[in-house]
Amino acid sequence: MSASHQSSTKYLIRFDDICSTMNWAVWQQIEETLDEAALKPILAVIPDSQDPCMRRWPAVKGFWDIARAWHAKGWTIALHGYQHRYVTRKAGILRINRRSEFAGLPIDEQTRKLTAACALFRSQGLEPDAWVAPAHSFDRVTVRILKDLGIRAISDGLSRLPYRCEDGMLWVPQQIWRLRRMPAGVWTVCYHHNEWSNADLEEFRRDIGIYREQITRFDEVCLAYPNRKKTAFDRLFAAALLLRIHMLSHTPNICQTWRRWLTSRQRTLRQSLP
Ligand SMILES: [Zn+2]
Repeated sequence: MSASHQSSTKYLIRFDDICSTMNWAVWQQIEETLDEAALKPILAVIPDSQDPCMRRWPAVKGFWDIARAWHAKGWTIALHGYQHRYVTRKAGILRINRRSEFAGLPIDEQTRKLTAACALFRSQGLEPDAWVAPAHSFDRVTVRILKDLGIRAISDGLSRLPYRCEDGMLWVPQQIWRLRRMPAGVWTVCYHHNEWSNADLEEFRRDIGIYREQITRFDEVCLAYPNRKKTAFDRLFAAALLLRIHMLSHTPNICQTWRRWLTSRQRTLRQSLP
């Protein structure tokens, strides 16, 4: 890869929670936008969704035919866990969310789930192009089992550029949740479309129009960074980003606590007045 390419800003588009019972009405409009822009996104497909949160829409007929058609278009089909059910309160390697389908489970249990997930994909004629953990939560045991099962890339992590870890897995980072101006790096934008309104669709179409030239595809990124090692800067960058994510997710709580304290102070003051 040339120095000029490395110093540029590239984006990948990823949609999570793809399954037969997702919001297909919204999805059809997203797929049209992606096709019109000739984009090749990453789709994180749940092999055997048992998550009640994903059961609010009727199941589409022929889901796996549709998934094979996405693959035939050159889209990246990633394995998004197994059943998308959180069974531990572990945050795993990335420490983003304290809920997991895998992190903290014994090796036998993780092997059983991941083997079943891969077998389901393969029985439908799909080879998992990458791993996307539900809630970003998985541990080193998960990584090693995935490697043994023939998966070679992970779409996750908070570094600025992809790298290959000591277990031989290629990590293509996922750091942002909407398209916005970013410095040089490879930025994966993760979308969850089930709750999207018309305004969200409009914003998506507008952003795709603005950033189209900088949006690349997963397989090209994998080819461009075959053996980059994780650097001290990557660790520092990831730590800073993690802090920011936690601060942003806690800001509403801080505001609420502050407002509650202020209200109680005002009440006390009013009561103390003659
Ligand atoms: Zn998910």
